[in-house]
Amino acid sequence: MSPDASRTFRVVSFHAHPDDEALLTAGTLARATAEGHRVTIVVATNGEAGLADTPGSAHSPGAGLGATRLAELRASAAALGCARVVALGYPDSGMRNENRGFASVPVDEAAARLAEVLAEERADVLTVYDRNGGYGHPDHVQVHRVGHRAAELAGTAVVLEATVDRTALVRALSAIRWTRLAPAAFAPERMRSAYSDRAEITHRVDVRGQLSRKRASMRAHATQATGGTGSRTLAFFLRLPGPLYRRVFGTEWFIERGRPPATPAVDDIFASLR
Ligand SMILES: [Zn+2]
Repeated sequence: MSPDASRTFRVVSFHAHPDDEALLTAGTLARATAEGHRVTIVVATNGEAGLADTPGSAHSPGAGLGATRLAELRASAAALGCARVVALGYPDSGMRNENRGFASVPVDEAAARLAEVLAEERADVLTVYDRNGGYGHPDHVQVHRVGHRAAELAGTAVVLEATVDRTALVRALSAIRWTRLAPAAFAPERMRSAYSDRAEITHRVDVRGQLSRKRASMRAHATQATGGTGSRTLAFFLRLPGPLYRRVFGTEWFIERGRPPATPAVDDIFASLR
């Protein structure tokens, strides 16, 4: 054990919509809180456009849905041991930015608000998304831009871009293709230009020890299992048999800008701070 292995850090995890934290970062956040670090989740929107692509859904898009999704986020955060949830309350842009929401807010304006939270928390680490915004939702791309700018403003030492190893993703999706249940948004051919190339990844975090809490985080959002893309995706993943779930969700990936990618990628998100 290195002498400073007991040092605790403060993490702010920035997300576009309630439920994004569950898929991309839940295991890492659960591991951080289990190790005694303080974690705050900041969400840019309440995800009120989340079910807009499902005509006749029991949950119609709008403010009521936003409140429900925010409550689900709080339950997810509690399952992960997070200390605090901050909702910035920007409008959910929708997949094609049809609502002119968070994705259309000037970067500096949103970054100033996130920087306030970073300052309050005295954050050591901020998590954002990769430059593709994962699969390309305009609000996710905006999380990348706003997050990096906010870290600059607040002087946050480490910025980690939550991503997925594209090679591992396409392989895993091909493995579950026979179920024919995988959401269309996750068709392997659509993933070939999404997320990140393995060569760019600096952190490969083993979260197999956190899978029960990651599952609880995902389940907290599953009251909308009959609804739109994000939630249907969660419902699908929650139905995966245990060994497959472990294979698909046992690892989380990050890119730390300014840190050279290493082989193997490091497992410790605080490696640059120790
Ligand atoms: Zn999202």
